Order: sequence, then C-alpha cells, then structure tokens
Amino acid sequence: MISVNLAVAAAAAANDTWAASDGATRAKLLEGLAAVLEGAREALVPLADRETSLGPVRLNGELDRTAFQLRAFAKAVDAAFAFVDDPAVPGAPPAGHPHLRRVRVPLGPVAMFAASNFPFAFSVLGGDTASALAAGCPVVVKAHPGHPALSRATAELASGVVASLGLPAGVFGLVEGGIDEGVALVKHPDIAAVAFTGSVKGGLALNAVAQARPRPIPFFGELGSINPIVALPSALAAKGAELAATLAGSITLGCGQFCTSPGVVIVFDGAQPFVDTLAKALSEAKPHAMLTPGMRANFDAGVARVAGTAGVTTRLASPAGDGSNAAPRPFLAETDAATFVANAALHDEVFGPACLVVRARSTDEAVQVLRATGGSLTVTLWGAEDGSADARRLVRAAQQVAGRVLFAGVPTGVAVCAAQQHGGPFPSSTAPATTSVGLAALDRFLRPVALQDAPAWLLS
Ligand code: NAP
Repeated sequence: MISVNLAVAAAAAANDTWAASDGATRAKLLEGLAAVLEGAREALVPLADRETSLGPVRLNGELDRTAFQLRAFAKAVDAAFAFVDDPAVPGAPPAGHPHLRRVRVPLGPVAMFAASNFPFAFSVLGGDTASALAAGCPVVVKAHPGHPALSRATAELASGVVASLGLPAGVFGLVEGGIDEGVALVKHPDIAAVAFTGSVKGGLALNAVAQARPRPIPFFGELGSINPIVALPSALAAKGAELAATLAGSITLGCGQFCTSPGVVIVFDGAQPFVDTLAKALSEAKPHAMLTPGMRANFDAGVARVAGTAGVTTRLASPAGDGSNAAPRPFLAETDAATFVANAALHDEVFGPACLVVRARSTDEAVQVLRATGGSLTVTLWGAEDGSADARRLVRAAQQVAGRVLFAGVPTGVAVCAAQQHGGPFPSSTAPATTSVGLAALDRFLRPVALQDAPAWLLS
C-alpha cells in the first residue's frame, strides 16, 4: 500500500507530461485500460462478487459498461482540445478587439473517491477516472473499503498499462485507508480537484475540507437522490399493472443500491389498484444481500425514520429483528402530500429497496412534493404525453429539481452518451452544472484560458 504523500507526489511529477499529451496518447491509455479489464474478467468478476454480493450477471454487465465508458472517452478525447477562436477585429472597443482563442487546460491531479455500489463503473477505472484521464489529469483513487482486493487488482492492471505505454507511473495511483487518508488526500496542496460518489454526510465532510484549504479546489460530489416518479392517472389507466411491475423491479434492482433508485412515487385519486399491485410485486421480490453490514444498518435506520414519522403508514417491511440478515425485505409505505412536504425526515434518500407512495390531490400538491425534495438526479413523469397545462407545470417543476427528466420507463439504468446529465441540485450533486456520467463529464476537469494575441507556434 502506498501512502497518500507518495501517490500525490507521483501524480504531481506526471502532471506536466500528461497535461501535454496528445489525444492519440490519451486514447491509447483509455483503450488499453478497457482491454485489460476485459482480459481479466474471469478473475475480477468472482473477486468482485465475493466482496460485494452483487452477483456475476450484474458484475459482468458492469464490467462491460466500464470498458464501454473507457472506450467512449477514448473516442471523445478531442473534446478536451476544442477551442473557440475570435479573430482580431480592427477598431476601437467594444467592437474592435485583439485576437483571442479560448482553450481549456487540465486542472491537475484529481483525487477520486471510489463508490461502494458500483465496484467497476464508479470505482477504480470508472467514469470519474476515465473522464479525468481523458481531460489530461493524473488520477489518485481512494479505494472504497467495501471492495479492497478488487480495487488492488484493478489498480495493478491499470499501472501495468501505464508502464507498458512508457508513461510516468503517477498518471494513475491508488491509495487505501479510512477517513484520515481521505482527508489528507483532499488537503494535499498538489491535488487540484476531487470527484466523489457516496453519502451526503461523507460528501459534505470532504467538500468542507476541500473548501477550507488555503487554496480551495473544485469538489464534484454525487450524493443522495430520492428520484421521484409522478404517476398521472392517464398512465395508470393505460397500463397501471405493467408500470407497477416495472417499478417494483427498479426499486429492488441491485437491492436498491443505485443512486437512481426510485424512492418516492406520487399518485393521484384512483391509484389504489396500482399501489396494491406494486405492494404485491415487492412482497414477492427477493433482494440479495446489501453491500456491507453498515449499509444494511443505514437502511434499517432510514426505514425506521420514515416508518416512525406521524402520518406515514407502512405497507411492507422486514420483520423486526431481521437486521442481522444482510438481505432486507423491500420497504413500502404511504403518506399524503402535506405530510411529505412538512417532514424533512421524509426527503432524505433511504439507500436500499425502499419506496414511499405520496398521495396528491392536485397538480399543485404534486409540484409542492417535487419542490420539497430539493434536488434529485432524476424525476420521472408518466402520463405527460397530452401536453396539458398540468403536464407542462409538472415538467417545469421536474426540471427545477432534477438533472434528468424521464417520460417513460424507470430511472435506474444511466446511458453513457453525449447528451447524458447525471447530477442535479443539492443533495444529488455539489456541482449541479456538471455531470458525472456521459461524455460531458470530462468538462469538469478542464479550466478555460483565453490566449490573447498568442504567437503562431502556440496556435498551430
Ligand atoms: P460513504 O460513507 O460516503 O464513503 C465513501 C467514501 O468516502 C469512502 O472512501 C469513505 O472512506 C470516505 N468518507 C466518508 N466519510 C468521510 C469523511 N468524513 N472524511 C473523509 N472520508 C470520508 O459512502 P458508502 O460507504 O459508499 O456508503 C454509505 C452510505 O452512503 C450508504 O448507506 C448510502 O446511504 C450512501 N451512498 C449513496 C450513494 C448514491 O449514489 N447516492 C452511493 C453510495 C453510497 P472510509 O469508508 O474509508 O472511511
């Protein structure tokens, strides 16, 4: 295990070389990383399964996604070199001006906190690492303690690719440890930015460290998200049973351990058959174990918080004393819009297979519920096809609180492409103008510089 100081020193030593690297070199590294991941699949997937209980089907799919992401950034590296050119305009200002070219430069070494719930796609070689490398930034990953052996094995493969391409070793590094090491990493003067996926508590603590430095640095934190679904009567009338089954699958997918897991569903009058079908489907679901005992304990605490709120009725829950079993039963509860809006305890994510049905009597109430969530990665609107005034209001409210608004399907499953936005107002993100998934993720690690009357050699 290498210390934080050594890892950051290596990243700082590699910084100039990597920042000056051309697109072809960056693409070669990213493609090489994708290839070694795929090549080591037979070893990595069982290792990941032992440490996370996520199962080989999910883990193989996640490894595919991670390789896809690395290759997508390999193809997208040119975006890091794009510029805006304003030729000189003769005459007095403001119309006249010198020649200006707006370019972007890499921020410098990035500290990346791996997530627990995606041991490949948001971990050592996940989207944050891929996008930072594509932007020309060395990366120091803080391994998540939930899958240490997998993190080490992945990092060893990555360092092998870096060495085989003749690049400085510090282009990629891994550190392990707990809170002290994480804080030391964020405080290190040679770290230029932080990417984080995890809890609101952890993200806020590390963001505070980043902002308290003598030179504060950008902190790109993806934190909690409640992902409301608004189920309008027209959608439930057309295919309520099908939507209930799809929603139950989304709530229990990966034992609910997705940042986009739907935690609230807003319904209107006449939704009882839908809610009953949802409850039945959830009662028949058998989620696998949660990632760690700590997460199971957090889930139980979150469920107790929701179930213990006056005005909330529990429909489904794990039997009392079941906490030692790592695999929980799904939790479903019901409340009304006024209770939801009035109780901040209901607005926080319960990480795991949990959902709260909120009954609204009007579009006004549904809008108030959406606003009360504060910020979310996603809002899903089922039944907005008619373009009515109510639908338009809900769309506006959804856009105000979410980074992605869906009009069909469920929010779990996040496409990696140019138009993707994964990050909304706090608490879903500490930097809502940025995305942590999709090709625009590399913009986070570039800083604009305007070159004025630059010499020809610099512009060629
Ligand atoms: P976490 O507790 O936030 O930990 C993530 C990383 O941050 C770990 O490396 C952890 O280090 C570090 N960390 C946490 N608090 C810190 C602090 N005060 N100072 C310095 N470093 C700190 O997240 P987790 O372990 O993945 O899961 C815990 C809970 O987070 C879950 O139950 C869930 O509620 C939430 N979560 C949400 C999402 C999401 O996508 N919304 C994803 C994952 C987790 P150490 O563990 O080594 O101390």
